[in-house]
Parts: sequence; structure tokens; C-alpha cells
Amino acid sequence: MLPHRCHLKHQIPEFLENRLDPARHRAMEIHLEDCESCHREVETWRWIQQNCARHFETPPESRVISADCPATKRKKWPDSPSGTNTPRLLSQQWVPLLCGLLLVVTVAATLRHFLPVPNLPSEVAEDYRKIREGKLSLERYEQDAKELDRFFSMRGVPFNTKVADLRDLHYRLVGGRVHQLINRRSVLYVYQGRSAELLLCEMFVADTAALPSGGFWHEGQKKKFLIYRAKRLNLVFWQDGNMTCVLASDIDPEQLLQAARLEANAI
Ligand SMILES: [Zn+2]
Repeated sequence: MLPHRCHLKHQIPEFLENRLDPARHRAMEIHLEDCESCHREVETWRWIQQNCARHFETPPESRVISADCPATKRKKWPDSPSGTNTPRLLSQQWVPLLCGLLLVVTVAATLRHFLPVPNLPSEVAEDYRKIREGKLSLERYEQDAKELDRFFSMRGVPFNTKVADLRDLHYRLVGGRVHQLINRRSVLYVYQGRSAELLLCEMFVADTAALPSGGFWHEGQKKKFLIYRAKRLNLVFWQDGNMTCVLASDIDPEQLLQAARLEANAI
């Protein structure tokens, strides 16, 4: 590679998109045959195009990269609006960096489901209090469990819900909402008893192993339940596939456990 030769890196995006006129396209092909640096650049761009295209759309003007040879280094970008000195958002150095960042974010989003969730029982108890005090509203009032499942599915909840019918225990379904529990998406729904007592159920993607210490296990015939006491409420957690489910209320714990067994479809 000749040290003072002008590279054609500024033409690479246009070259890859077949936007060069035939003469310049041919000149680029000839240049690439004996310029290792530009060849590497082209390979990098192809890799980025293939691997990042599905993650984010890049506006055409931001795919233009600057040349690194002195003759083509410019302070003003000729194709920017009215020739202003606008820096390009995605220059050639930034795209691999953004891809790396995207990878880190994806890994973090996956890992967070396995990280400890310190205050989950308190947070669920807090949701219960807000519902009771009318500070958290339901998105859908619905007495039919199957209809509420359909509503959650229509709202784009990324897991299958199984809202139970608790009428045998004299609790009628009131309705539910798609919710945010700490840093994760949850579904939340509410039952009401004959004396206006409330039962709150929440479901979200998590492992009960990530719950804090301080609960005690209750071994059912088909299911294990983890019971907490927080903010004068009893909370019964259980695992359903990759989901953690919880039922919270101030009713008698044995009755709550019975409702949880029905909710967990375990009896
Ligand atoms: Zn070159």
C-alpha cells in the first residue's frame, strides 16, 4: 500500500449501494484489488450492513463516511443541507460502536430476568395499596377470565396469561391492566369478594429464585408456593414456566393459598 496514495473510502457506501457511475465503480473495483485498507473497509461495511440492518434503519445520508486521506478531508460536508458544517451521526467509527452497544443492551435485557429483585413483595403490596386507594386504574373492566386473557394478548403482552375463575371461592373478576413492575412488564388483575375484599394477581417473566429471602415455602401437592408478608398483606408467589405469578391480599392466608392453588391451575 502506497503511503501517499489517496484511498477511495469516501465512495464505499455509494459503491456498495451501486450508486457510483460506471467509470467510478470500475475505478473502485480496480483500487480494491490492490488496496488492502479499502478492501478491509468494504468487508467491514458489508458485515455491518448484514448484521445491523435488522436492528436499526440508518438514514441514507448518515451512511456516508469520510475519507481518511488528506486530499478528501473536508470541514464542510458537501451533501449536507445548505452546506452547513453538520457532523454525520453515524460515521464509520460509530457504527461498530453502536452495534457493540446494541449487543450489550440485548445481553443486559436478557440477564436482568435472572438478577435478584430485592423489593418485589413490597412493590406488589404497593400496587395493591394503589389499586385499593384508586391511585392505579384498570385498563379493562372484565368479568370473563378468557376475555381478559384475550385483552392482554391484544395489548401485546409477550407471554400467555391464564386468568382463573375464582367464583367458586366467591371472588369475582373485576378487570386488569398491562403494568410495569419495577423494571419489567407485568399483567395485573383484580378480584373482589362479597365483603369488598380485594385479591390482586400479577404475572411477569422472572424466576422465583430471584425473590428475596424472608419468605417461606409451602409445598402443595402439585406446586410449591413462596409466601411473604409485606405491608400488612400476605403474598403468595409461584413459578409457572418462565413466569413468576403472585396473589396478594389481606384475606385469611389459608383462603389466599386456596385461591393461589386455583390460579396456579394446580387443583
Ligand atoms: Zn485504498
